[in-house]
Amino acid sequence: MRSRLYQTVGIILGRRDYGEADRVVICLTPQGRVDLLAKGTRKPRSRKTGHLELFARTKMLVSRVEHSWDIISQAEAEVLRPTLQDDLQRGTYARYIAELVTRFFEREANEALYELLDWTLSVLEQADRPELLVRWYEQRLLTLAGFRPEWHTCVGDDAGELCGEALRPRPSDRLGYGVDPERGGALCSACFGACRQLPGVRPLSPSALSWLQALQHRDYSDLKQFPFPEGAAAELSRVMRHYIAYHLEYRPGSLRVIQGWTSEDPP
Ligand SMILES: [Zn+2]
Repeated sequence: MRSRLYQTVGIILGRRDYGEADRVVICLTPQGRVDLLAKGTRKPRSRKTGHLELFARTKMLVSRVEHSWDIISQAEAEVLRPTLQDDLQRGTYARYIAELVTRFFEREANEALYELLDWTLSVLEQADRPELLVRWYEQRLLTLAGFRPEWHTCVGDDAGELCGEALRPRPSDRLGYGVDPERGGALCSACFGACRQLPGVRPLSPSALSWLQALQHRDYSDLKQFPFPEGAAAELSRVMRHYIAYHLEYRPGSLRVIQGWTSEDPP
């Protein structure tokens, strides 16, 4: 028989009001995503409220309830992340980071995802270049979600035959590359030339492709030593929005707020 009470630790991804005084809290735990009911947390003197702030990592004692949300009976924050509440830009990135988790993942346990989210939110509080961190995070998240893009060999095909050419972008390349979300990655110059008219296929500059390769196989701590020029940042932001929106078949609301994601809206 299952015990009625259990202990867990979770990162607060979102909250919504429920009834007169309660909230439903969306948490990511190492055991997966859960919605929990936090009773009375909208009352001014609730002791739990301060421990269930957005993006906090909180230890909780939870009562199991059949056919409804489980109820948080005690909550104690291990890490509060006040910068992500107070700083507009970092807060926007944090909402985007959390939203990708809720859109790409259901309720399956995924300890690697939990670790990635916890680490990324902590680094985001201090990061000199939060946008670079977010681009790095997207590559990790897509891999965990089973949508790992192929940036190192061409995903183009000719009559069902995979091209597979190794992609080694150089600044001196005369021809550009392409990105094809449907085939799941980058196209060599020849394949891009052949299918640039297809829906979903977009151009990709040599420098953006180099960055995508580096974002995928390097640690964030290595990457932040390299200059991240504004032009490359804007292009990567557009490319990744296109790629992610294709796989979600919708555009997450917070994407629009992030600088660079507002230009060139695809129809
Ligand atoms: Zn090719």
